[in-house]
Amino acid sequence: MHTAASLPRLVDSHAHLDAPDFDPDREEAVRRAFGAGVVAILCPADLTQPQSLPTIRSLAQAFPTILAAAGVHAHQAKDMAEGHLAALRDLAARGEIRAVGEIGLDYHYDLSPRERQREVLRGQLRAARELGLPAILHSRLSGPDVVDAVDGEGFTCGGILHCFTESWEMARKMLDRGFFISFSGILTFPKAREMREVAGKVPLERLLVETDSPYLAPVPFRGAVKRNEPAFVVETARVLAGIRGLPFPDLAEATTRNFAALFPFEKTPLQC
Ligand SMILES: [Zn+2]
Ligand SMILES: [Zn+2]
Repeated sequence: MHTAASLPRLVDSHAHLDAPDFDPDREEAVRRAFGAGVVAILCPADLTQPQSLPTIRSLAQAFPTILAAAGVHAHQAKDMAEGHLAALRDLAARGEIRAVGEIGLDYHYDLSPRERQREVLRGQLRAARELGLPAILHSRLSGPDVVDAVDGEGFTCGGILHCFTESWEMARKMLDRGFFISFSGILTFPKAREMREVAGKVPLERLLVETDSPYLAPVPFRGAVKRNEPAFVVETARVLAGIRGLPFPDLAEATTRNFAALFPFEKTPLQC
């Protein structure tokens, strides 16, 4: 039997553990992930949602390798106020957040007017640049405008393009701009052939894996469970190892090393 100490080490680079879906068993879900070999989890808080930041803050205080980020999501761009940028600066000054995010554009759901989404993204990239923090970017059917925003703000702090769903062209542009590319459970879906092709081309030293919990449970959990959780990142990493022709432990170690290069988390003791 494997113990957590002998399992390949993985990082879930993006999990919404603030979601109400985790209210019944948030800490147990974290412990299950640690038991499955996950050694760190990045949790983005949304500043427009009153419960989001306090929930993630208390998790980050309880578990030293749960890292917090904060920002206003593309979906909530219409609700962004000046106070949110001030909050971001305060959080950064107190060392509570490691990145600004998730921020970005979403032209699939279009839950905020696109013009407003672009303004809010640019304002937060500007703040991230001033604070010297990486960005956690979300982009859905909006690749060229995300690249324009990064270039327009002269943003060179890098970060993660999370839950990658776009073309190789977009991946290449973001790699050129210093970003890591993170793949979610979508990679395991039978239809995701094009995405698997892109995942085969991203340089190994820029690859990350994530769950985007509670959404997008990977195969074989897809359809079988109501909710995705960080422990399931193992399935996405296994598929990615297959695509790369690498033994699973090597792929796990590579993505964990990549994450640690961006967000050193190993200086603090691991809690399991
Ligand atoms: Zn996202
Ligand atoms: Zn997300």
